[in-house]
Amino acid sequence: MMKEMGVYERICSKEKESIELLKKFVEIESFSYHKIGIDHLSNEIEKVFSKYPIDVKRYKEELYGDHIRFQLGKGEKQILFISHLDTVFPQGTITNMPFIVEGDKIKGPGVIDIKASYIMMYHLFDLINSDHLGDYQLVWLLTSDEEIGSPSGRKFVESEAQVSEVVLVLEPAADGALKTSRKGGGKFTIEVFGKSAHAGLNPEDGANAIEELAHQILHASSFSNEKSGTTINIGEIRGGSLFNVVPDYACAVIDVRVLQAAEVDRIEKKFQKLSVQNPKTRLEVSGSIYRPPMIKTEKVEELYQLAKKAAHKIGLHLSEVMVGGGSDGNYAAAVGATVLDGLGCVGGKAHSSDEFLIIDSIAERTALLYEIVKMTIQSDISE
Ligand SMILES: [Zn+2]
Repeated sequence: MMKEMGVYERICSKEKESIELLKKFVEIESFSYHKIGIDHLSNEIEKVFSKYPIDVKRYKEELYGDHIRFQLGKGEKQILFISHLDTVFPQGTITNMPFIVEGDKIKGPGVIDIKASYIMMYHLFDLINSDHLGDYQLVWLLTSDEEIGSPSGRKFVESEAQVSEVVLVLEPAADGALKTSRKGGGKFTIEVFGKSAHAGLNPEDGANAIEELAHQILHASSFSNEKSGTTINIGEIRGGSLFNVVPDYACAVIDVRVLQAAEVDRIEKKFQKLSVQNPKTRLEVSGSIYRPPMIKTEKVEELYQLAKKAAHKIGLHLSEVMVGGGSDGNYAAAVGATVLDGLGCVGGKAHSSDEFLIIDSIAERTALLYEIVKMTIQSDISE
């Protein structure tokens, strides 16, 4: 499939180009809610990748950024790579958090989550000659709204995953480990409507929304289940105006994570069934578990073993972890696809001002990705 020089060495020798390209992509800020920035970024990626014989498709969005899909080869079987265009950093972050090379690391907004993966794909498309793909085609999907739960990108992830033999998600590696299972999750909001009154003159005419919410919060916390890996986090509360006024409104926003499919149903029912203690108050509960858990199946174990062999070939040791955070990998797994996640570069502190990438991991992880692709094509894991 490629010329004889080792893949790792070959990509290492292009380090300067890798860094320049990454700088370009990081400096085009692409906050999830900033369509202009995201579309600018995808235009730039499209331009950079136009040197390869790949087909490009754009899925236009009105509200969110457009999604983009690259395809190499025209085989019947598909290997899907997933990245995303958006980051959690609002436009302008780059001013206080510039792209900077510091020793063996690079810092910058979105550098590890997930822009370094574009550089991996840039080298991968260079390494793979479409004539040698056999029955396979490679598809790289970049969604525009992954960091906010893929409200518009989800359907593309699902439809591509459904027709793919394997799905390789280029989210950052967890200290080098692959993510073979991920918790699913969702968000619920509990609103309490009470009745305001003077705390001194006529408290009996009021209905205290905060007091009612306190009951609801404690009840909701009890939905957690350590054994099945379900966690509940009461993350935000609001309510009240002044200390001497009976509050007529209070609300809580709650984060839920689940590891088992059955828990999705149980939790959603629990929230639906919430009812008031104080009949003078009224509840409104909304939300859902929108990200299904990514569960490790037998097929995933097979693919993981293949990845371990691929790693061994290039002198790497791979391990696996379960993580609490979700990604587009969750949606791909939920439609039955065989998903390996965390195949992106190595770094850390994602979503924070200290987010960093370990430069050397670009070459290392691209070499790994290349081996996985090669072995998947050879071994036909789908059979
Ligand atoms: Zn990400």
